[in-house]
Amino acid sequence: MADDTPAGPPATLSSPAEVVDLLPPLADAVLLLDFDGCLSGLVDDPEAAVPADGAVNALVALAARTRVVLVSGRPVAFLRRQVPIEVGVSYAGGHGAEYAEGADEVQPLVDVEVVQRRRDAAIRDLDDLLGDQPGWYVEPKPTGVAVHSRRVADPTAYLDRVREVLASHTGDDMVVLPSHEVLELRPAGVDKGTAAEHLLGDDSRLPVSFGDDVTDEAMFAVAVDRGGMAVVVSTEPRHTHAVARVRDPDDVVAVLAAWAERA
Ligand SMILES: [Mg+2]
Repeated sequence: MADDTPAGPPATLSSPAEVVDLLPPLADAVLLLDFDGCLSGLVDDPEAAVPADGAVNALVALAARTRVVLVSGRPVAFLRRQVPIEVGVSYAGGHGAEYAEGADEVQPLVDVEVVQRRRDAAIRDLDDLLGDQPGWYVEPKPTGVAVHSRRVADPTAYLDRVREVLASHTGDDMVVLPSHEVLELRPAGVDKGTAAEHLLGDDSRLPVSFGDDVTDEAMFAVAVDRGGMAVVVSTEPRHTHAVARVRDPDDVVAVLAAWAERA
């Protein structure tokens, strides 16, 4: 598994035009993109997340000229609904637990039977704990379960108990991944770094990656190790493997659209 410890200094805030100047020629690059908080704004209802204006058009233009890979904690099925591009786009869902090329069948990279048995047991315990607690959202995934606290007025009252429930379902095969206002039970041994390595394989082109969350750092590390680059999406400076920072998904779309038009 790639080292996901953000070791570097905070990346400099850049304008979209400044980031485009840093990018390699499209023909020499592979694009690795997170979805939530990167292509889509963060919203209270995870099911309501949609790509920012212009994102899909920019990706269609890029996918015609290079390889585009979406790398997300979301299921492949969700990513396909939101970014329905059949040629030139690959999907890594569940933090690398499942893959698909374009419209091809989804390929799991974990023992789905074991993972789903763990997931279902965790969901039963979470429903018992949170069933009548307002705001908590338990999101079943093909390869795990995410518990969202974004809509909870005061998550502290139940957060430790949610952690305990999830921890009781971990082991050699499952781990808990904390990210921004989400706790997720997911397969051990996969993350966005392993996903990036798996999808890139012996592709020697330069990975260019965008993402907003700590879970993206493993993917950033792979991109930088392979001679590419990473751009973190954040309104605040933070320690990261990324070499540049933009503010929000609109900035990401501006970069992608301008890159697609560059000769
Ligand atoms: Mg994200």
